[in-house]
Amino acid sequence: MREHQRILELRSLLEQYNYEYYVLDQPTVSDAEYDRLLHELILLEKKNPEMYDPFSPSVRVGGKVLDEFKKITHKRMMLSLGNAFNEDDLRAFDKRVREILRVDNVEYVAEVKIDGLAMSLDYQDGKLNYGATRGDGNVGEDVTNNIITIKSIPTKVNINDNFEVRGEVYMPKKAFEQINAIREQEGEPLFANARNAAAGSIRQLDSKIAASRRLEAYWYYFVNAQDFDIGTHYDALLKLKEMGFRINPEVQKCKNIDEVIDYISKINEKRENLDYDIDGIVIKINDLSKYDLIGYTVKTPKWAIAYKFPPEEAVTKLTDIIFTVGRTGKITPNAVLEPVRVSGSLVQSATLHNEDFIKERNLKIGDYVVLRKAGDIIPEVVRPVINKRTGSEIDFKMITNCPVCGALLIEKAPTHFCPNNLCPARNIEGLIHFASRNAMDIEGLGEKVVELLFNEGMVKSIPDIYKLYEFKKDLIEVEGFSYKSTDNLIDAIERSKNQSLEKLVFGLGIKEVGAKTAKILAQQYKHIDALMNAPKEELLTIRDIGPVAAEAIVNYFSDEDKKTLINQLKDANVNVKYLGKEIKQDSFFSNKTVVITGTLNSFGRKELTVKLEELGAKVTGSVSPKTDYVICGENAGSKYTRAKELNISVIEEDELLSILKKIEE
Ligand code: NAD
Repeated sequence: MREHQRILELRSLLEQYNYEYYVLDQPTVSDAEYDRLLHELILLEKKNPEMYDPFSPSVRVGGKVLDEFKKITHKRMMLSLGNAFNEDDLRAFDKRVREILRVDNVEYVAEVKIDGLAMSLDYQDGKLNYGATRGDGNVGEDVTNNIITIKSIPTKVNINDNFEVRGEVYMPKKAFEQINAIREQEGEPLFANARNAAAGSIRQLDSKIAASRRLEAYWYYFVNAQDFDIGTHYDALLKLKEMGFRINPEVQKCKNIDEVIDYISKINEKRENLDYDIDGIVIKINDLSKYDLIGYTVKTPKWAIAYKFPPEEAVTKLTDIIFTVGRTGKITPNAVLEPVRVSGSLVQSATLHNEDFIKERNLKIGDYVVLRKAGDIIPEVVRPVINKRTGSEIDFKMITNCPVCGALLIEKAPTHFCPNNLCPARNIEGLIHFASRNAMDIEGLGEKVVELLFNEGMVKSIPDIYKLYEFKKDLIEVEGFSYKSTDNLIDAIERSKNQSLEKLVFGLGIKEVGAKTAKILAQQYKHIDALMNAPKEELLTIRDIGPVAAEAIVNYFSDEDKKTLINQLKDANVNVKYLGKEIKQDSFFSNKTVVITGTLNSFGRKELTVKLEELGAKVTGSVSPKTDYVICGENAGSKYTRAKELNISVIEEDELLSILKKIEE
């Protein structure tokens, strides 16, 4: 059935977006687009109740818990909020609440919804015990070391009691702009928005980084206020303020839903001038004693709702469409726009993805177009303003030749590619990729520096990177370089020669070979020569390598130019061996798919994952019929239940320890 298919498609898409947003702190779509897809999923799931799945992104609180931090199980779940997108949604919320409470009118508290990340602070005897992220709502990450770098957070209060406070940690707009400006100068990837920047800063293992990011926080929830004889949310906020917590000055008590609606327009007007990003308004019932009566869904409290501002739109002129060439030769059309301010930043370009995107939206050069941008930096050209057309607009025509080298493009719908391996644009992108963090990790060799060295003729190809020292004297003369930065760059290049094989394989930029596949290949073949000689049939026997990737790998290494490149790297003493641990082929866990859940006493989760992978297991995040074993620690929740439902063998910690002992004997 088409709707079933769409539900599965939406779930997998939203899971991917959740991962990019919550784990990588690098969203690839706007929040508005995410919310639209989630809304579509919720409606379809309602229509097709037989498709219910407790793991659906519509049911789960989005975040993931990173293994690097100690885990904290929240005393009470940290939930998400239900959404309202317009006045009707808000009035429906009010009606539901009034019906449950059997009253004609409800008092609310309206607050700005700051776009940062939720934080829980636990105090014992009036002293800060820990600060934890929301994580998956049940278990969060202990980020106390980073939290205490926010100077406004009291580490001690004048009440010798135990309590929990929740709020939002955020990066002020100014700090965000400055940090991105510095990152741009240093050729580092920019943060998509202040939220991602704040989340990325809090989840740093080195608290010096968090300290340098100038984060701030506002506190909006006194979890156990009723233990202190406080009856309303508003009074709870006043109490927190008295105790020394930063409370947002825009908080307002509203006598009814009409006052809430007025508050929303008032805030919308001053939104631009606030020194932090907000993506909506949070509305909470004031009377705390009603919360349990109104209740909760698995994902949200029913006594609060988040009104989300619509993405901001602006109209501007599409003055041209230009093309960029990526590492794989992919041609991307980009809109050149008359500069316009949307959602607080100046936009003058936007990706148009491919020819189909432009045709579907019927865009012409010279059109006035509607540009949409939510609280992030990914602007989207939505549609042309047809009634502003004068007749002088020019129809879009896809180019036939590479804009940089002139080669005839090839088409793999909907994308066009430049097939020329020597195309300078492709080479620059290839060099940037080779030096990037997940590849050879050459600090200081970011986008700007690569372009500069390429244009100066010092680095035209990957092997040239390892000859850069020959240009040391000339480099110091180049604008932007000093003795120190030149030395640092040469040192970083030298250090990269010792990277393990998987980094090199990823850095080569073989089609279909991402960082994970590169690791599998390196573990399997251990030396670049073995990989180069691997026949397709053999590659196909490796778990996770499909026919398309196998073909791409064989094609890459059969190219004479690539063979020369590998020889040049060897001559430059670049390591071509796998330096990680050996993978066991015949252990209890070899070729088994394993899921870890709950808290283990003897291992951190990451540590155990590495160990199991060395023993030949594939460790995945969710239980499915393909799972062979589920390893369960303490407080294992839904994954344990799911394993039981699917009749999958569960291994408890004691048993795991004895299996590992046997393997090691
Ligand atoms: P949410 O952002 O819609 O609302 C809940 C959060 O609001 C709370 O956890 C809290 O952190 C915050 N908040 C701010 N001010 C508050 C206040 N005064 N009172 C209470 N809470 C306040 O929900 P979420 O679960 O954190 O995130 C889901 C949203 O994140 C999605 O709706 C989407 O917009 C965005 N998202 C985007 C992507 C993407 O790829 N662009 C991916 C995942 C999620």
